[in-house]
Amino acid sequence: MRKILILGGGFGGIFTVKNLFKYFKNDFNTEIILIDSRNYFLFTPLLGEAATGGVSLRDIIEPIREIFNYKNFKFIHSKILEIDLDNKNIILECGEINYDYLVISLGSVPNFYDIVGAEKYAFTLKSIDDANKLKKHLINIFERASFLIEKNNNLNSLLNFVIVGGGPTGVELAAEIHNLFFNTFKKMYPLDLIKNVNIFIIEKNNELVSNFNPILRKKVFQRIFDLGIKVLLNKSIKEVSKEFIVLDDNQKILTQTVIWTAGVRPADVRIIGKINFKNNRILVNEFLQINNYPEVFAIGDYAYIQNKDGVAVPQLAQAAVAEAKIVALNIKNLILKNNLIKFEFKLKGYLIPLGKLFAVGEIHNLIVSGILAWILWRLVYVSKIILLRNKIKTLIDWIVDLFLPRNTSEI
Ligand SMILES: Cc1cc2nc3c(=O)[nH]c(=O)nc-3n(C[C@H](O)[C@H](O)[C@H](O)COP(=O)(O)OP(=O)(O)OC[C@H]3O[C@@H](n4cnc5c(N)ncnc54)[C@H](O)[C@@H]3O)c2cc1C
Repeated sequence: MRKILILGGGFGGIFTVKNLFKYFKNDFNTEIILIDSRNYFLFTPLLGEAATGGVSLRDIIEPIREIFNYKNFKFIHSKILEIDLDNKNIILECGEINYDYLVISLGSVPNFYDIVGAEKYAFTLKSIDDANKLKKHLINIFERASFLIEKNNNLNSLLNFVIVGGGPTGVELAAEIHNLFFNTFKKMYPLDLIKNVNIFIIEKNNELVSNFNPILRKKVFQRIFDLGIKVLLNKSIKEVSKEFIVLDDNQKILTQTVIWTAGVRPADVRIIGKINFKNNRILVNEFLQINNYPEVFAIGDYAYIQNKDGVAVPQLAQAAVAEAKIVALNIKNLILKNNLIKFEFKLKGYLIPLGKLFAVGEIHNLIVSGILAWILWRLVYVSKIILLRNKIKTLIDWIVDLFLPRNTSEI
């Protein structure tokens, strides 16, 4: 029996399995095994909305066993501890497993760049637990502040909200938090609280979403400015503590809410083998194979893939999905001893939701913004959700969100 092992059930892993089943659905000599420490696929693009009550947390997770129901598919629910490429063996928390072909798509974790206090005090937005924790915290801050305001206490550290990183996740989250405060909390808490809210984005570059088209960058900045979100450009964080942050110019901002969207590094798993890294990510060739190990492929946020133009493929879901297609094809080609296909990434476009009824994006070199872009964003994203149940529930959440306040229960 031939074993194809896929490590990680995120965008890269799930779509690799989907593509492999195009070729191996009725091949009972081939077993396709997916391993992940969580039993669901997480639709990360909706994490910001889930953290601010726009969609339910449950609607953005999809059980892996419900996605794949094939005889030659196996799911192992376990943490992966070690990948031994020399012996084709994987050490799991629950045992060991070997393979004939391997795909590593273990994604990324937040990178705090050793900044003092960042890991301990900052919130992150990489998992469903992160989204839940952040939502709970935002609600608790307002509950505390609404009690303290009657006693005339200084509320600065409570009502300052700092997002570190002005990339697409940072700006989207800032706008979503603004949406929650100004469209839902405004109706529930004393107006004085809302008036004193400050949302900051801190960005070390001299522009927001600096990797994007200049017109798009301008539109994002204008929207963020119109929402009253304060943008501090060319600033880095030196220290994060429970009650304040310190910037590189020693400016201090009082805050109890720091949300870290400033960068990622590959997931922590020990690898034994002769491998190369670039920018901390595992380096693969144009066929997405790891050098020295032709039977091993790496994709998604975990891998460093150089495009034809010499630039690294961005760490995006759409890149991971495109890579998954080529990996599945190349595994089939390896088995059939056919030539391998080179991977080349072309960004189809990008849409960034920026609060209620507004998004900005670029699709095939066309810049779109406003309500049309927002509708387009919703249509595109709902089409990417895998299970019909989750698509329907997300659509219902969105319709409710248009007309009614968001659900601000703590869970
Ligand atoms: C808030 C947010 C919003 C985003 N929005 C967009 C967007 O709008 N558009 C876009 O294109 N991209 C977006 N992205 C980026 C996108 O999520 C990633 O690029 C994509 O998920 C990468 O896919 P992947 O398979 O490499 O990793 P992931 O999807 O993260 O999957 C990795 C999997 O590996 C598992 N894993 C990791 N370590 C272990 C271990 N030791 N043992 C067992 N299992 C393990 C994890 O549980 C996870 O299921 C967003 C990301 C975030 C965080």
